[in-house]
Amino acid sequence: MNFTPVPQISSLHPYKPGLPIDELARRYNLDPSKIIKLASNENPLGPSPRAQEVIEKGVQNIHRYPDQHLLIDALSNTYNLHSSNIIIGNGSNDILDLIARVFLGSGFESISSQYAFIVYKIVTQLTGAKNVTVSAKEYGHDLPAMELAINKNTRVIWIANPNNPTGTFVPYQEIRRFLESIPPHIIVVLDEAYFEYLDDDQAIESTKWIQDFNNLIIVRTFSKIYGLAGLRAGYGIGSPQLIELLNRARQPFNMNGLAIEAATAALADTAFKNQSREQNKAGLQMLQQGLAKMGVKYIPSHGNFITVFTEDPMTTYERFLSQGIIVRPVTEYGLTKHLRVSVGTGAENRQFLSTWETLATKLS
Ligand SMILES: *Cc1c(COP(=O)(O)O)cnc(C)c1O
Repeated sequence: MNFTPVPQISSLHPYKPGLPIDELARRYNLDPSKIIKLASNENPLGPSPRAQEVIEKGVQNIHRYPDQHLLIDALSNTYNLHSSNIIIGNGSNDILDLIARVFLGSGFESISSQYAFIVYKIVTQLTGAKNVTVSAKEYGHDLPAMELAINKNTRVIWIANPNNPTGTFVPYQEIRRFLESIPPHIIVVLDEAYFEYLDDDQAIESTKWIQDFNNLIIVRTFSKIYGLAGLRAGYGIGSPQLIELLNRARQPFNMNGLAIEAATAALADTAFKNQSREQNKAGLQMLQQGLAKMGVKYIPSHGNFITVFTEDPMTTYERFLSQGIIVRPVTEYGLTKHLRVSVGTGAENRQFLSTWETLATKLS
């Protein structure tokens, strides 16, 4: 090859997304409308209807550069914070990447948990920094062990709560204690992509904690409960000092105009959010009960997906594909006997369970 990438690129592999519906349709000559995709933790209800409306209207303005203040103001009202506490991104992954680029680089380290969201490793390595992985505790974050992994080079700690792909959740009291005990020059990223799915007795409005911890940044997304994964919209909430530093590295128009308008509308659509949350709760329960009845083990989940044990995940995955159901292998996480399954509609969940039952009988 004639090109030589910077050294950190050599050991990186591209992120593997869930298989798109049309690709499977082509592969098995299936009707795309009959394919069930439970692979990317998308909202099975579709997008918020209010978001769809504003997109239709907003199309006539796409010759204009976007005005990010529409969404920043809506978020600051929602959370009762100043606009200087908020940064928006082209998906929340954009914010994760900004954090890495601003606070990491060659000679520095970040810390994440084994089985935590793989993007933390990717964005860390891209800067030339090293990601230190701390062994999981029951598939989730072991915060005391993560604290012990801190050294003089540590600059960023990534926490996914709930975590993807394991669905594990660390109670907020433990996160709070962790924040109180770590050095204040280390940035703590609390990635709450699934926050809105938490039960009321578990959820704490962690965005209030940015008043107490200048080094805390909360990252949330419009890709999951708001149903806007295809638009790319996410945000970060933190101290003005931290947000100002991130803005230095942000592309001027990182979030597109339609995404800004749709996210603003979706944020106000509490009916859709509540409906999505209730449906997810029922769906998760149906999946957990159905799996348990078949004697299939799984990791109890706090998100909109569930990670299931299977002896030979790639074979199970391929068999599901042949039946028109897309789930997600998670072998690149070191989860070699598992498949991740997103919660679908009631009908999709039933179809998944009955397919599992059929495939299991065929296998035995
Ligand atoms: C899905 C997910 C995100 C969201 O990414 P977007 O770029 O906003 O689509 C972020 N963090 C975790 C842990 C996720 O699972």
